[in-house]
Amino acid sequence: MESAEGLVKSEGLRSRLGNGLRRLSGLALDMLYPPVCLACQTPTGVADTLCAGCFTKLRPITAPFCPRLGIPFEVSLGEGALSAEAIADPPPFGRARAAVVYNEVARSLVGQLKYGDRPELASFCARLMVGAGHEFWDGAPLLVPVPLHPRRLRARRYNQSAELARALGDLTKLGVDADLVRRKKHTRQQVGLSGAGRERNVAGAFAVHPDLLARAKGRRIILIDDVYTTGATIKAVTRTLLRAGIEAVDVVTFARVVIGADETI
Ligand SMILES: [Zn+2]
Repeated sequence: MESAEGLVKSEGLRSRLGNGLRRLSGLALDMLYPPVCLACQTPTGVADTLCAGCFTKLRPITAPFCPRLGIPFEVSLGEGALSAEAIADPPPFGRARAAVVYNEVARSLVGQLKYGDRPELASFCARLMVGAGHEFWDGAPLLVPVPLHPRRLRARRYNQSAELARALGDLTKLGVDADLVRRKKHTRQQVGLSGAGRERNVAGAFAVHPDLLARAKGRRIILIDDVYTTGATIKAVTRTLLRAGIEAVDVVTFARVVIGADETI
């Protein structure tokens, strides 16, 4: 009969062997599938990140920026100064922030997040969004992703905005409610539509969950989306939430189209 000590020793040996085997199989996996850059697939030393070249091309949005729309300013216009866009067309939401300018690298990340079935990209993007939305996380707001229509969700299998919201929820420990808002109208894709066309396309497209007020209980809502383009979709969701009795809505996206930056919509 084995002594208790012997058992403990053999358990220890087994777990050491187990750890060693797991490390070996990790190494073998790395040899079979060496980690590559999330944007351009160049081999990288570490998994789930960008290569140095893509990292330097990513343009984080940092101060100074418009406090309402999060549009970066070339120079500081002074405390509280708004962008021309925010003055000409005040958004229904309080404040919007984005982690990066929508340029070639951001487009590649978002494209793969949407169509490439690579939900692990969401955690990379969410890590950058935590910093972008840092003013918003206090006071236990609720993270709500911009929904896809059920038909599009079935075709694509997951909602990239919900993946971003869940990854952000894990990092910030905030609650996520992915079905608080639903898309009741199957709208055509916004790509190729003008600003006014986009607004018409999404008007009346959203509805809130009948238990909205009970579920959101006086909390601020932070809408989560992948890209802020003209804001038509996000504004339509915001209006739906405000009409239903929500008092404050802010927005955090991974990327933002910046007119005059090196990329077009
Ligand atoms: Zn790269």
